[in-house]
Amino acid sequence: MFPASFGYVAARSVEEATELLTKHGEEAKLLAGGHSLIPAMKLGLAAPRYLIDLGHVPGLSSVRVDGESLAIGALTVHADVASSEIVRQRLSGLAEAASVIGDVQVRNRGTIGGSVAHADPAADFPVILSALNASFVLVSPSGKRTVPADDFFIDFFTTALVPNEVLTEIRVPLPASGAGTAYAKLGHPASGYVVVSAGVLVNRDASGRCASARVAIGGLGSGPRRAKATEAALQGQRLTPEIIAAAAAKAAEGTDPDGDTYASADYKRHVATIYARRAIESAVRRAEG
Ligand SMILES: Cc1cc2nc3c(=O)[nH]c(=O)nc-3n(C[C@H](O)[C@H](O)[C@H](O)COP(=O)(O)OP(=O)(O)OC[C@H]3O[C@@H](n4cnc5c(N)ncnc54)[C@H](O)[C@@H]3O)c2cc1C
Repeated sequence: MFPASFGYVAARSVEEATELLTKHGEEAKLLAGGHSLIPAMKLGLAAPRYLIDLGHVPGLSSVRVDGESLAIGALTVHADVASSEIVRQRLSGLAEAASVIGDVQVRNRGTIGGSVAHADPAADFPVILSALNASFVLVSPSGKRTVPADDFFIDFFTTALVPNEVLTEIRVPLPASGAGTAYAKLGHPASGYVVVSAGVLVNRDASGRCASARVAIGGLGSGPRRAKATEAALQGQRLTPEIIAAAAAKAAEGTDPDGDTYASADYKRHVATIYARRAIESAVRRAEG
């Protein structure tokens, strides 16, 4: 299908992009990698009158250490997140998530900022970024604000972004030594999108017990969902296979996912416990070095 006709502007700066968004309001959409927006336009699910291309804005596609955090530019493509040396060394769960998104073409064009702004309930980055306690830097003509992942993902395809804001950077706290991260995904065999996935950050104390854990599950609702009962069951415990399995068994507590032609609601809930266990085990192995 052909999309409805639209105007196109290549923004040269974040400031110009926010000004154009303010001028055109809800009639305008930012364009990043185009791998969610263009298909939606071709299907008639979106019909913006203006596309504001961020692709020519300098300085939005780097991965750098900034103090105690990793700062990832919103235009960084999935493949560059997956292959970044610092991401692979310090945040292997994030590299793992980036490397299982779509196919090579999607990973070379799609951007981390576009993925989180789009907030598809079957996307990978929102899940691992919630587990990693990431935050999102949003810029508008009235200034800059930083929103933590727990407050950013609001509903199906809905985030804390307001219409004239640009997401410029994703900030991920660098885990302390003795911590481990991991991501495990059951992808849909046709689309590759998430059926169910789990992102995990485990911090161990000097005695090897779990000092704290963040576990986020994808596929059970409108967006990433913290598995608080699992996190509580890990806290303060020795991370034995039995403790991990018992904690992971709580991963779907309180969820009420929709079933679909591929996976029933019960199947999704069950698979969530399996993938949570796998991701926790993997994070713990990495934490143990
Ligand atoms: C065949 C195929 C398979 C895929 N498989 C997967 C998969 O397995 N897992 C997965 O997670 N994703 C998958 N995707 C989606 C892919 O990751 C997209 O690239 C991603 O969701 C959107 O990123 P983008 O840069 O292409 O954004 P775009 O499509 O350009 O934009 C998406 C939305 O975000 C907004 N936006 C973009 N950038 C910003 C910004 N900086 N600030 C504010 N708003 C912004 C746009 O206005 C638009 O509304 C797949 C896509 C395709 C086509």
